[in-house]
Amino acid sequence: MQKNLDKPAANPLSKDFQRERKLSFSEKLYIPEILKGLKYSFKQMFAPTFTMNYPEEKWDPPASFRGRPVLVEDNGKERCVACGLCARACPPLAISMQANEDSDDPKERYPDFFEINMLRCIYCGYCEEVCPEEAIVMSKDYDIVFESREDAIYDKERLMVAKEDLEDRLEFLRNYKNQQFGQFWDFQEENNIHSVRDRDTDWNTGLSLVDMLEQQKKNDATEASKNWSV
Ligand code: SF4
Ligand code: SF4
Repeated sequence: MQKNLDKPAANPLSKDFQRERKLSFSEKLYIPEILKGLKYSFKQMFAPTFTMNYPEEKWDPPASFRGRPVLVEDNGKERCVACGLCARACPPLAISMQANEDSDDPKERYPDFFEINMLRCIYCGYCEEVCPEEAIVMSKDYDIVFESREDAIYDKERLMVAKEDLEDRLEFLRNYKNQQFGQFWDFQEENNIHSVRDRDTDWNTGLSLVDMLEQQKKNDATEASKNWSV
């Protein structure tokens, strides 16, 4: 039999739904109930508060908090060597960059442009996880507003934050990064200078292979390296 869709059949109510609580005499008057409500509200005005008056009061998140990803600025420059790993690991493809080279800089590679589309970012922290240079980390910044879609695309200048302002997070990473795999994490600044050209003594333009080996010895002697087991 074809159903008449214009006139849906009335839902038969169960007996439970048909029962209705009878109001007492004072409830029928409403005034006592209103006074009861006012009394409760008044009591709550003097109870301890568990909320904040945001945005007048700002919350300071713990170091484990994953806020807006930022680029670490070290001595006025980004640590990033534009390897592209973060862009590769980013699930919503929020990161885009273009690598460039500067032969006068011992770091040699740097991102010509580096952008994160904050409308796409899901604050997963994968970029921070894969970065070999500790160049991108999750900051405490959660107060992010845009006026347009273009405004949500953060360029290198907006992404860079001095490492001194990220100490909490860097310390957190030092203590917890990759602990589950029984490894250690200790950012070694010298790793940021890893150019093959600079290791070549013939070019004689930067750190020699001897310098690098000396540095490696120093790195191996760090506290974190002592705890490392293969
Ligand atoms: S936090 Fe996640 S989504 Fe955001 S840029 Fe990093 S990898 Fe991409
Ligand atoms: S993974 Fe790190 S070093 Fe590589 S491009 Fe991303 S931020 Fe730069």
